[in-house]
Parts: sequence; structure tokens; C-alpha cells
Amino acid sequence: MIEIVSPSRCTACNICVRVCPSNVFDIAPGAPPRIARQDDCQTCFMCEIYCPHDALYVAPNAEGPVAIAEEEVERRGLFGSYARALGWKDGRMGGTREDTTWELRATLDNRKKSGS
Ligand code: SF4
Ligand code: SF4
Repeated sequence: MIEIVSPSRCTACNICVRVCPSNVFDIAPGAPPRIARQDDCQTCFMCEIYCPHDALYVAPNAEGPVAIAEEEVERRGLFGSYARALGWKDGRMGGTREDTTWELRATLDNRKKSGS
């Protein structure tokens, strides 16, 4: 469940507001979005993945809020950790970049085309 929008990291770009499928956030002009409907959060991590500044923290517990402070999220390096684990952030090796099955598919496609 969405837990934190970090005021020190957030640039108020509102990307998270746009990608959230559950309309959890309210825009606050010139300020970080407000978590207005936390109970509607689906724990889909979309906001955390798309945030360009690692300013959001979604806790993996989907059943309800967990008591975690921004300082602890910072201390444990949790901001952006889900996106990094997926390999979404620039300059970080993603799992799909190591997936070489496209070579196999290309070889099979070429064989089909050549009839061999
Ligand atoms: S996407 Fe990140 S930086 Fe942009 S408004 Fe949301 S929390 Fe702030
Ligand atoms: S985790 Fe998903 S549902 Fe929850 S606030 Fe983020 S984008 Fe919205």
C-alpha cells in the first residue's frame, strides 16, 4: 500500500497522479501530491516505478497501512528499490537485458524464412 510521498525528493511532476489506476492521489498545486484515498491503493507499484525521483514508497503489504516513517525508508534504501529490482531505472542493468531468448527466436524466424 502507498505509504509515503517524500517532500524532499518530490518535484511535483504529478506523473504518479496520472499513472495511478485507483485515483489515490490529489494534486496539490506547487507541492507533492497528497495521498488522499490510501484505502483505494491496489499496491500495484505503478507510482513507485514511474516516479523519476524515487520519491514514493509503496509497502508490499496490500492488506493495510504499515507504520513506517520516511526516515526509515531512507535509511533502509527503500525509495525506488522496487523499480531498481525490475531494472527500470537508467544506467542500471535490468533482467530483460540479460535475457537472450530473442536470439533463439531470431534464429528460428530465419530458419522458417529460409525453409530449413
Ligand atoms: S512522480 Fe514522484 S516526483 Fe512526480 S509528483 Fe509523484 S512523487 Fe513527486
Ligand atoms: S501503488 Fe498503485 S494503486 Fe497504489 S497509489 Fe501507487 S499507483 Fe496507485
